[in-house]
Amino acid sequence: MTNIGNLAGIRCPECGNEDRFIITATIQAEVTDLGTDVADCSDWHWDDQSMTRCPECDRDGPLAEFQMQPEGVTATTPALPTMQSITATPNLLEFAERELQWLLDVKVQVEAPSSVMLGFDQAIKAARAVIAEARGLAE
Ligand SMILES: [Zn+2]
Repeated sequence: MTNIGNLAGIRCPECGNEDRFIITATIQAEVTDLGTDVADCSDWHWDDQSMTRCPECDRDGPLAEFQMQPEGVTATTPALPTMQSITATPNLLEFAERELQWLLDVKVQVEAPSSVMLGFDQAIKAARAVIAEARGLAE
């Protein structure tokens, strides 16, 4: 069964399980001298970096490792820019513009969980900031 709710896009890369995962989550606790309770306004929180374990095969790692590749993204798709790859590129502006274009192209092609799309938005924002800075330096 393909997950469409909480576990949309999540599958164990080892055994293919997509029914159940153990995810380390944070929650706000209301603590008094007498005891501890889940705070009224609290909500479960986890993200791509949250430690996740597959109860079927015991594989564990950050939740991001359990994220299925969105449709249209292949193994040959270039990786997202990292600080290391940016500083290793002599022409920063050209590199950032290429990455930004790639991000925009991929973003319109994929249907991914909101956590993944948020990552795209953050990367796009970061690429735009780099471009703006590089242009500022060039002038
Ligand atoms: Zn598994």
